[in-house]
Amino acid sequence: MTKCESYDLTAWGKPFEKAVREIPDLPDKAVLVKVTAAGLCHSDLHIKKGFMDLGERGKLTFTQRGAQLPLTLGHEIAGTVEATGASVTDVEPGQSVVVFPWIGCRTCLACDEDRESDCSAMRIIGIHRNGGFATHVVVEDEKFLVDIDGLDPAIVAPYACSGITVYNGLLKAGLTRPDEWLAILGAGGLGLNAIAIAQAMGFKNVIALDIDDAKLESAAQMGADKTLNSTGGEAVA
Ligand SMILES: [Zn+2]
Ligand SMILES: [Zn+2]
Repeated sequence: MTKCESYDLTAWGKPFEKAVREIPDLPDKAVLVKVTAAGLCHSDLHIKKGFMDLGERGKLTFTQRGAQLPLTLGHEIAGTVEATGASVTDVEPGQSVVVFPWIGCRTCLACDEDRESDCSAMRIIGIHRNGGFATHVVVEDEKFLVDIDGLDPAIVAPYACSGITVYNGLLKAGLTRPDEWLAILGAGGLGLNAIAIAQAMGFKNVIALDIDDAKLESAAQMGADKTLNSTGGEAVA
């Protein structure tokens, strides 16, 4: 039987600890993925601490959100299919995949309509179930895997979180008209991703704003049509 090695959170706020566990037999629709790349998301730092700081509104703990320890974090996962359940037909061992971690309850109306991210009882990989800071991850259905053949897994892995986040925002914004501008506020990890994805989606007139000239330079390299340091005097105009 294949063994899974992982680095688990066993107490909120404490360092990860190495764990080894046996991987049980795969349910019919499940897929075992051997992890080749796992991203560290900023949310992982909050999860490790055990709570989100809501300022004046106090703290939202991950226990309140259904997380239980011990837990293997990591929701940005790319890897190679190692084994498949009996009824899996669309992926096969050896295939390179990225994992969609935002898995819903699969019984509510939103899940029925394939809007799992609207589910109110999500069971997210790396938050509610063991994630990618491990040698292996079990994904309960092949439909949560996307083929990434020929792509670098280390580059693709973060798209499972930051890529989806900005893509969703851009979809909601809708394409700009020729006389409109799309402003990306902040040219950090998500902002730079947003610039790249906006171009791929066909957005024109993309302006990146930040208070750090080095980040604005990166934004220009990523293809922003204009950049603006929002601490400068011309930012008001
Ligand atoms: Zn994330
Ligand atoms: Zn649901």
